[in-house]
Amino acid sequence: MDRRVFIKDLGKLGVAMVVVSACGTDRIGSSASTVAATTGSSVTGGPSSSAAPTTLPATTIGAPPTGLTTWERVRLGSVSAYVLARGGEATIVDTGVSGSAPAIGDSLGQIGLGWADVSHVVATHLHPDHIGSWADVMVAASGAAGYAGHADLPAISSPRPLSGLGDGDMVFELRVIATPGHTPGHISLLDESAGILVAGDSLNGTDGTGLTGANPQYTPDMATANESIAKMAGFDYSVVLVGHGDPVVENGSSLVGALVTG
Ligand SMILES: [Zn+2]
Repeated sequence: MDRRVFIKDLGKLGVAMVVVSACGTDRIGSSASTVAATTGSSVTGGPSSSAAPTTLPATTIGAPPTGLTTWERVRLGSVSAYVLARGGEATIVDTGVSGSAPAIGDSLGQIGLGWADVSHVVATHLHPDHIGSWADVMVAASGAAGYAGHADLPAISSPRPLSGLGDGDMVFELRVIATPGHTPGHISLLDESAGILVAGDSLNGTDGTGLTGANPQYTPDMATANESIAKMAGFDYSVVLVGHGDPVVENGSSLVGALVTG
């Protein structure tokens, strides 16, 4: 009963959500199928969506009527960037290798948004496969503010000044979790309402059902990286969006907790 009241009240929040829902209907059959299932379960509080995404009522596909965040993976070869959208507004997390801006723009288009709707661009860390298209994205998203973790920020050249982020900061209602180790200024982003963790390279995906820790080959401080995993395990989320490998869309915090050693 509480849930119904909750959804009903959120429904008063406005037309923007209706627009997002409508956009979401266009995504049936694409990668949005997992998005719909995931965000749907966030709304209902459990994996109770027995119907396949393609049979759900249009108003619940893609973006639920609550205005919860939806996400879009931008596949950029061996690395992924992500678009997080809510209420007709988008945040881009990471920018891939050089030349990735058109693909990111395509992903925005798939959810009915454009560069003008991008309010924030966040780098999880300074590695070139995550900031390779930083300048192009910042130019295309000309109204967006740019961010990176404090310690990584000086290494990122940007057409506009960037803001440094640290533990507990909030951007686009995303909680910043400082997750150093892979790089000193690595950050992850947590959408507490939608249950989505954007983990950058502090975690790696396998086949969509599993996670591993930071890649030792590219992580100079594994002890700190493992402390960061323990820190992330202390939060609650279903979805984990990773820089490499496939995201997981359920049991995220349990999977991260299972990686905690000692
Ligand atoms: Zn990296």
